[in-house]
Amino acid sequence: MTLCDAHAHLANLSQKMELMPLFDSAKEAGIRAWLSNALSREDLTCYEKLVQIPELNLLYSAGIHPFWHECDLTLEDIAALAERRSIWAIGEIGLDRANKDHEAMSALFVEQLKLAADYSLPAVLHIVGHQQEAYNLLQKYPLKYLMHGYAGHTSPMQNFLKLDIYFTISERIIRADKRELLLLMLRSGRYLFETDITAEYVLPGEQNPLLRLIDLVEECAQISGIPHDELIQVQAQNYEKLTGVRL
Ligand SMILES: [Zn+2]
Repeated sequence: MTLCDAHAHLANLSQKMELMPLFDSAKEAGIRAWLSNALSREDLTCYEKLVQIPELNLLYSAGIHPFWHECDLTLEDIAALAERRSIWAIGEIGLDRANKDHEAMSALFVEQLKLAADYSLPAVLHIVGHQQEAYNLLQKYPLKYLMHGYAGHTSPMQNFLKLDIYFTISERIIRADKRELLLLMLRSGRYLFETDITAEYVLPGEQNPLLRLIDLVEECAQISGIPHDELIQVQAQNYEKLTGVRL
């Protein structure tokens, strides 16, 4: 089994837990690659070390999050990382209805889409609310997109599917009221799986939150009737289409 956790915040998690033992048991369970996101300058230092370990297969992205209090990255930081080809994508970036300074948030999103276009990099998206506005903007930038944690309605999702886009399925849409959305994502064939793990999301007493990915794939197989092996094969193909790397 070769699974990728296609959206995580491992540098952030490292503030709470020692990562190497977590990676060891995740690897044993079949999780062999990571697409992880930087939210702060401190995160970058952590990722610079992690990418030195080739067997981890870790790629990281960086972006100014639309609603994350600890984000201190600047457009200049992201441009410098893109210039050095240190990052695989720009993100997570996007729109979030919890951010009340809508104008500034939209402007920052557009600036980062432009950077992604300038450097021919994919963009990792965080879209909570404002789906129509997001779709209108994304249409102007024909990039490869990885939409993380989407839990909105199915009709905007049909629009997003017109783009060169993939979705990371999270445990948030395993709930019964999100069934139609989950099935639409799975049937589109454009999915990967994510934990979106941060230090904050670790549950009391939880030994290894990276292993949540295994349960998530199992639940998707049970709910959809799509064989487990097929789910894993499709996410590996999508990982390759996005990153150019074969798992
Ligand atoms: Zn995230």
